[in-house]
Amino acid sequence: MPRVLLLATTTGYQTRAFGEAAERLDVELVFATDRCNMLEDPWQDDALAIRFYDEPGSAAAILDAASIRSFDGVLAVGDRPTVIAALVMERLGLPGHSPRAAAAARNKLRTRERLRDAGLPVPWFAEYAVTADGPTIAQSLSSFPYVVKPVTLSGSRGVIRVNDPKELAAAVARLRRMLEAPDIRAERNEAHGRILVEGFIPGREYAIEGLMNHGALHVLALFDKPDPLDGPFFEETIYVTPSRAPIPVQEAVVAAVESAASTLGLWHGPIHAECRANSSGVFILEVAARPIGGLCARALRFQRARAQSAEARSSVPSAPGLISLEELLLRHALGELSIGWEREPAASGVMMIPIPRRGLFRGALGVDVARATPLVTDVRITAKADQVLVPLPEGASYLGFIFASGQNPAQVEEALREAHGRLEFAIDPEVRVLQSVHG
Ligand code: ADP
Repeated sequence: MPRVLLLATTTGYQTRAFGEAAERLDVELVFATDRCNMLEDPWQDDALAIRFYDEPGSAAAILDAASIRSFDGVLAVGDRPTVIAALVMERLGLPGHSPRAAAAARNKLRTRERLRDAGLPVPWFAEYAVTADGPTIAQSLSSFPYVVKPVTLSGSRGVIRVNDPKELAAAVARLRRMLEAPDIRAERNEAHGRILVEGFIPGREYAIEGLMNHGALHVLALFDKPDPLDGPFFEETIYVTPSRAPIPVQEAVVAAVESAASTLGLWHGPIHAECRANSSGVFILEVAARPIGGLCARALRFQRARAQSAEARSSVPSAPGLISLEELLLRHALGELSIGWEREPAASGVMMIPIPRRGLFRGALGVDVARATPLVTDVRITAKADQVLVPLPEGASYLGFIFASGQNPAQVEEALREAHGRLEFAIDPEVRVLQSVHG
């Protein structure tokens, strides 16, 4: 039975989806998880306990384990373990992203530098110490707006648009408080000691889910992000595929992501890229060395490529019907070429339900009604009752996810918005918690 090592940030939905895909494929899955996330252990699968902050040490521990039970493939889910996965693949001689590429992809400053050095479009950017003082930074800036951001967080955490020196000083102070908070310090990542300030790039935003195949990009999906993302914070909300952008724009987006991925040195394995397109070109925001996060992957299903030859078809195990992204990634990690698969013909979309305000989550109303919206395939509320909800820029989660599928992307987008409109969220002010706690 082939064995795949999965390095995962959490033991959440995505690891379960990999577990199900592995069962279907008759693949043994071994998890390696950060020790702090090990408490849950839903699979009782004796996962390898590693420390994401200790990359050489974690890679060595995994290689030790590999000498007893060998791995035929390695996959990283989430940004933090991508470098460890790359180190392991390099040592095991498995095709993957190089450690240097994975490290650059995870660091917004390194990404900017590499793209700039390769002559690809980048906004003006500069890094500062997290302790730098806002008014001093403002003196070195001229043409607002800018975006202030951490070097290595994800999910738009800490990303703030600023329109003048006063907003810049406030954003820098806010970001400093965030980066110095215990949860971020616990990551022991020295990149959290720096912040990045870069020019605001106007334009439409797109995301690409893809697989690198020995250096060549295979696009799995090009998503439109139809909501305007103009700040001050950048909630992702809706992703819809296929794109409705004019074909030349789509081609330019794909070409820009391919150039950026090869400039960073991303070679083999999943990538998730975000970019903005305007009349000056396509600006890459990031190309992550990992697949799309969490539940969003459920918006993607794949079928056998129609153009595939009978010969190629017979060289891979049969898979009836549509398969999940997780199954596709396992197949790819085991050496099956992704070009045998393409996204299903239906349009598909997901809404990451934003947290409207800070407070104590009491529950969601109208979930069944929202689920009954035509074209909506599922509504998942992932926030837990009594959880303190923290919106962006500090927050790191969504209230839940809405999925829709239909004949065309416009209908899918409309269905997502309609279902969202049918939901109501009960959120109490946090102060009431204190009152109830104290009687
Ligand atoms: P993360 O990796 O946390 O998602 P990004 O750097 O990709 O951080 O930024 C998150 C979002 O913030 C982007 O998807 C985009 O909407 C917005 N954003 C980031 N940088 C810029 C920029 N320079 N100009 C315009 N929007 C930006």
